[in-house]
Amino acid sequence: MCGITSYCGNKQAIPILIEGLKRLEYRGYDSAGFAVIDNKKNIIVKSQGKVLKLEEKKAGKKIDSTFGIAHTRWATHGEPSEINAHPQTDCTKKISVVHNGIIENYLELKEELIKKDHKFVSETDTEVIAHLIEENFNEDLEDAVLKSIERLIGTFGIAVIHSDIDHKIVVAKRGSPIIIGVGENEFFAASDSNAISPFTKKMIYLRDDEMAVLNSDGYYIKNFKNEILEKEIETFDEVSFKTDKKGYEHFMLKEIFEQPETIENAFRGRIIENEGVSKLGGLIPVLDRLKSINKLIIVSCGTSYYAGLLGRYILENLTELNVECELASEFRYRRLKLDENIGVLAISQSGETADTLAAIKEAKRKGALLLGIVNVVGSSIAQITDAGVYNFAGPEIGVASTKIYTSQLVILTLMALLIGRYQGLSYYEGSQVICALKNIPDKVREILNDADKIKKIALKYSKYRDFLYIGRLYNYPTAMEGALKLKEISYIHAEGYPAGEMKHGPISLIDENFPTVAIAPDDSAIDKMISNIQQIKARKGKIISITNKDAKKVIDISNDSIIVPKTIPILQPILNIVPLQLFAYYIAKQRGCNIDKPRNLAKSVTVE
Ligand code: GLU
Repeated sequence: MCGITSYCGNKQAIPILIEGLKRLEYRGYDSAGFAVIDNKKNIIVKSQGKVLKLEEKKAGKKIDSTFGIAHTRWATHGEPSEINAHPQTDCTKKISVVHNGIIENYLELKEELIKKDHKFVSETDTEVIAHLIEENFNEDLEDAVLKSIERLIGTFGIAVIHSDIDHKIVVAKRGSPIIIGVGENEFFAASDSNAISPFTKKMIYLRDDEMAVLNSDGYYIKNFKNEILEKEIETFDEVSFKTDKKGYEHFMLKEIFEQPETIENAFRGRIIENEGVSKLGGLIPVLDRLKSINKLIIVSCGTSYYAGLLGRYILENLTELNVECELASEFRYRRLKLDENIGVLAISQSGETADTLAAIKEAKRKGALLLGIVNVVGSSIAQITDAGVYNFAGPEIGVASTKIYTSQLVILTLMALLIGRYQGLSYYEGSQVICALKNIPDKVREILNDADKIKKIALKYSKYRDFLYIGRLYNYPTAMEGALKLKEISYIHAEGYPAGEMKHGPISLIDENFPTVAIAPDDSAIDKMISNIQQIKARKGKIISITNKDAKKVIDISNDSIIVPKTIPILQPILNIVPLQLFAYYIAKQRGCNIDKPRNLAKSVTVE
């Protein structure tokens, strides 16, 4: 959510900053801006809306500058507007600040600064940072930033410049990501590697409470105690940064179609067939502790939360663990008793999800074993957890998650297999899971080959305003995730429910204008699902079922059915969600929605 990029070198800064902003667009934003210094003049250009608009605004202006900072904003304090866009500046208009995160004590600081005659122009929390730096500035920008951040409560990734100080950018991080790019006589700082990957592959991740100073000869990194740090430079390969649509109309469609490969990537090299077990290199350092935990709490948000919900069913099926699944935003505020016999597993695509990050920090304080499943290598969650597993699914650009969800389900299965095989799970049972898993990519291909049929059904239902999604057991999370996909990208009201709960409320909504998507595969819950479908039909509700070809009764009573191949019950949700992703996609397309960047949503949710 929101993005920062900055450049310090000998090339023209603006094209590099604009390119960086474009590559951060996928994170979601509502306005953009940059500040560069041209001959000691602080030049700020900002606009509400897309980076393209910012580019147009800049066009025609002759600016000569080789260092500057830039930002895409996702408003938290003050509406999206040009004045609230970043960079924010101080009274002298010499200091420019871009900020990602939230300053929780900004009102208190603002009042204090107003008393000292500072004049505020925006409604943002960020502006207090600029004025604080002005207040603390005494020829030394780095020192002023350090003194100012001491006063901040909340989260921040910031980049700061001063028009009197040539070629110096100060960046600092607490709770929001900052990465440093190291080039040939040029240096970058950004909130993710995408922004700087065209210019350098050498990067350094800052941790919380670290800052960096970039200038024309180099850079150095310190902690907030002012101690210089030696940090390792990591080199990233090209593959991590692929961001083209490969001929698909939208990233989301491309990512849906990538699933046979991303699912395979999630388990490739991670199974030992002749032992009926998985091998997860990332968990080896904590294997002994992992064997001794008696409870696992999964914390996550959004789609990752639904992966976690399903993970609970999978882990309960394959292991002896007690498993709980919690929304990260609630977990962190509860009065929790955790200890070293409890594992806390964070699931997050970006590895930067603020709520999840806060939740695991709380768990760390209490001594739990911290585990993670993340897609972005080196992200904050990857750094904080004791051990974890990467998705290796490549960047997911569509805001609505698809390929990462199915990849998370595969990894949860592998984790369950690993833990289960140290407990009661037999070799035979483990082998059954592995055998079924290996067939999943081909089965997903089969479903994708039916995309046209799914599209036809989607178009038939594209004008409805409300949908109910129901499922039982493993497919209750599928119903939740299916409904989330539809509402995220098509703005249609969709509710996911465990089918058994339907009679306790939602059934009152059902009529001929309120269709239901019933996820009713041929499993132990099928008879109960059939009863629920009948109850809906008795109230004139239309049924679209996701089922298997042998489930004749379900097919007969549904208005439309999408047939998916069958697999073992714990893996069936991986297959069932694929047609629901396509269903949501085609409806959203028919309604002319902005599929890859739905309104109000952001890819990487770095605010709580
Ligand atoms: N809280 C800041 C604002 O509303 C920064 C938001 C962001 O992270 O984009 O301006």
